Amino acid sequence: MDNNARNILRQVFGYDHFRDRQESIIDAAIAGRDSLVLMPTGGGKSLCYQIPALVRPGAGLVVSPLIALMQDQVNTLRQLGVRAEFLNSTLTRRQKQDVAARMNGGGTDLIYIAPERLSQPGTLDWLSRCRISLIAIDEAHCVSQWGHDFRPDYLSLGQLGGCFPDVPRMALTATATPATRRQILQNLQLREPAVYVSSFDRPNIRYSVAPKLNAKNQLLRFLENHRTDCGIVYCLSRKKVESTAVWLNQCGFSALPYHAGLPDSERAENQSRFLFEDNLVMVATIAFGMGIDKPDVRFVAHLDLPGSIESYYQETGRAGRDGQPSDAWMVYGLSDVVQRGQMLERSDADEIHKRNERSKLDSLLGWCEVTQCRRSSLLEYFGEKRPGPCGNCDTCLDPPKTRHGTEIAQKLLSCIYRTGQRFGALHLIDVLRGRDTEKIRQHGHQRLSTFGIGADLSQNQWRSVIRQLIVHGFLVSDAERFGALRFTGTTRSLLKGDVDLMLREDVSQQATARKTKVKTDVGEEDQELWEALRACRKRLAEQYGIPPYMVFHDSTLKEIMQRKPARREELLDISGIGHAKLEKFGNEFLKVVRGYLK
Ligand code: ADP
Ligand code: ZN
Repeated sequence: MDNNARNILRQVFGYDHFRDRQESIIDAAIAGRDSLVLMPTGGGKSLCYQIPALVRPGAGLVVSPLIALMQDQVNTLRQLGVRAEFLNSTLTRRQKQDVAARMNGGGTDLIYIAPERLSQPGTLDWLSRCRISLIAIDEAHCVSQWGHDFRPDYLSLGQLGGCFPDVPRMALTATATPATRRQILQNLQLREPAVYVSSFDRPNIRYSVAPKLNAKNQLLRFLENHRTDCGIVYCLSRKKVESTAVWLNQCGFSALPYHAGLPDSERAENQSRFLFEDNLVMVATIAFGMGIDKPDVRFVAHLDLPGSIESYYQETGRAGRDGQPSDAWMVYGLSDVVQRGQMLERSDADEIHKRNERSKLDSLLGWCEVTQCRRSSLLEYFGEKRPGPCGNCDTCLDPPKTRHGTEIAQKLLSCIYRTGQRFGALHLIDVLRGRDTEKIRQHGHQRLSTFGIGADLSQNQWRSVIRQLIVHGFLVSDAERFGALRFTGTTRSLLKGDVDLMLREDVSQQATARKTKVKTDVGEEDQELWEALRACRKRLAEQYGIPPYMVFHDSTLKEIMQRKPARREELLDISGIGHAKLEKFGNEFLKVVRGYLK
């Protein structure tokens, strides 16, 4: 290993060890080799190009598509004493000239550039006269036409190899599919690249999925364990975002809404508050999230079903980038299944596209109902095998019970059959449970042989049975007919009893209420010091006009809390404290610790 790289890791970034593949990736780049780096969100991609850029002579050129992210990264680097710059449309002419002057004078370690700026005439000319140490292409999947983030400007990045024949190029992404990988290699024209694929597991994220009973109460109970944390609550519609935010505020949380329908200024304001405050809940549609790399997001909650496992993974990936324990929590119900199906059928997409989306939705639903380790089955979807159960997901911590369900299913199927496959879940359940409703009388359904034959199950239990039959493909919810339940090609085998159907026992209200507390490692006795350290961090953040996590991450703060350092040198042993931060913030935190020990 290059000693220089290790010194930089320690002195600039304040970290002791490289993670996982970082070391080999950095070595290859220092040696001048092209590479493709696939790592999950939070895996530590940035160091992979930042360190070689500092080791090799010249300035590292980083192509990054998101302006907000660019500024964030440059700020973070500057806090570490690295001479970082960015060049994008937010700068004035004068500012751009200053950036160029510093660059020409050799006073730049890293320069971040938006792809569209790079393809402007003159830019490449100018850069090829500067000394460039390395070219990093972040979010490299944007070059793939199949992906959802395609950016035409990325296609022109293929020519970089020709302009900078002696400069190593590194493409980085958190999107794992083989098709994307091929397109990156092809379109960016990397030369005999080293390819690094990390595990996509995010071991610090605890996954849990529960049946939706009373979503608001369930959310409140979940949030009880995150009273002082930052997190995101995703909803499908703007209206629901608004009402959920209002309601959370009434319940004593600080919650802000975020969706594409808000005025630009309000959205920008809310996003910036999310970055700068350390206990804020963002209630958002999926319009929120791209380009947010706040490291201390402690939870991502889904009140509605996402569109696919890919989107779910991307959205939940925003939790716990700092590696600290975090929650990915979701409730889903029959109404989600029906609603998602309807959205799909009513969209203008062509049939092939719809079929594709339908099968993605089915995979997600199937995943919601798994009975083995939820993490293993998530990774399996991305083609990765785990050696065994993880011990940190809902199905590992509280294995769901299953029971033989063919007979129960037959009652339901026969009820659907006798009512002509024309009704939705609610009415069918009323018939099965033998209720006296207007609709039942109107259709004469109280005279059916199936009336009241399912009174032993609660409404929620029946909903769970229906959901599972849809997931297993024995029923479809007909979007054209308001979610009427219909038979499929395989229903007959179940009706005849040829299938031994295993059903997941419905998780009762009590069971979902169980504490799913993620360990915060802050014991009763340390609470006071912890709060004092947090307050100190907040004060410094305000003073320097940066978000608290740019002062120190939670993990660094926790180490200070545990080790209670008395001297400056001891602070340097703590992960996340390099020389620049020691100078700037060290004394303040020592004062807090001293005050506490007195
Ligand atoms: P990515 O870009 O892959 O999503 P980042 O580069 O933002 O991830 O890194 C995620 C977090 O992990 C950052 O806060 C970073 O400081 C931290 N990190 C990266 N490498 C290390 C390391 N070797 N030791 C400790 N922390 C690290
Ligand atoms: Zn598990």
